[in-house]
This record gives sequence, structure tokens and C-alpha cells, in this order.
Amino acid sequence: MPRPADFSFSVPDWVADINASNIVLPDLDARVAFVIEASQRNANSGGGPFAAGVFETGSGRLIALGVNLVVVEKCCVLHGEMVALMLAQRRLGAYDFGRSGLDLELVSSTEPCAMCYGAVPWSGVKRLICAASDADARAAGFDEGHKAADWRQALEQRGIAVVTDIGRAQAAAVLAKYRDDGHEIYNGKR
Ligand SMILES: [Zn+2]
Repeated sequence: MPRPADFSFSVPDWVADINASNIVLPDLDARVAFVIEASQRNANSGGGPFAAGVFETGSGRLIALGVNLVVVEKCCVLHGEMVALMLAQRRLGAYDFGRSGLDLELVSSTEPCAMCYGAVPWSGVKRLICAASDADARAAGFDEGHKAADWRQALEQRGIAVVTDIGRAQAAAVLAKYRDDGHEIYNGKR
């Protein structure tokens, strides 16, 4: 058993390849479609049906794509958003994007769960974009945890813009397909 002194995780090769290439998606709809496609590809390759990307808002340059690695890496915090933020921060060498001088955003295939929502302000992103809704995730059987009813306003009060409902139907279809295909739905045991 490894000593619990260090932590590392690995993304699938196709994610590593994407993160090693210089992807620029100037159009926001294209960024959303890109993460939705990644969520389906991750589900197809044994991961959870979630993906997220950190992009530079003005140019559309991808800083890092993350996918859900909870089951494959046996770690409950490795949601797509967390993986994207960790990889982007490692790439930029900054724990707070707000200090990086870049205007960055988090584009997620699904509205963040309670944990990922909590990470958004700490990350320093200035905008959150999500496709499928919390209700879509719950309809597929995933537990999103508790977020206050005014979660959007709470982010906006911190200067973080929130954009929803772009690509929602496509992202929700990925979640529904995952459920209908009988894949593992992992939630905390109560
Ligand atoms: Zn999450």
C-alpha cells in the first residue's frame, strides 16, 4: 500500500493529448460543446459522465480539460471541475487565477455539485458556465449535495458571472444515456 505522503492522479491519454495541444475555441457555444463531448468520451472510456475546462475568456484558449476520475482513481474529490482546476493551476503555477493576470472561466458539462461549487471562488475564475442542470444530474441518479437556493447570486456577489442553459439538452442526454446504459452511479453511502 502506498504511503499516504504524496498524492498524484493520472488523466486518460486522450485528455493528456488534448491538454498538450493548443486548443483555442473563441466561441462560447463551442467551448460548451467541447466539454460535453469530453463528458461523453469519458463515460465511453470507463469514467464518469462529467467534464470541465478552464478557458481564457477573451481568447477561448484552453488552459486545461478535466474529466471525472472518481472511480478510476478511487478518489471522491476528482470531479471534472476539480481536475480541471488542479491541472490548470499546475500548468499556470498559480493557486489563485485572480493573481495570474488572466481572465479565466470554468466551463462545466453539468452544474457544479456542492464541493465543486465551493472550489469556484477559491480558484479565482471570473466566470462559471454550466450546461446540464443540478436537476438533470439528480434525474440521472447523481447526488449533487446541498447548495443554497441563492448560489448564483452568492457567486455574482463575489464578482463571478454565472451562465447556464447553454447546451443543456445535449449535456443532460449524456447523463441520461449513462444511467440508461447501466453504468455505475456513485454517491456517498448514507
Ligand atoms: Zn463536483
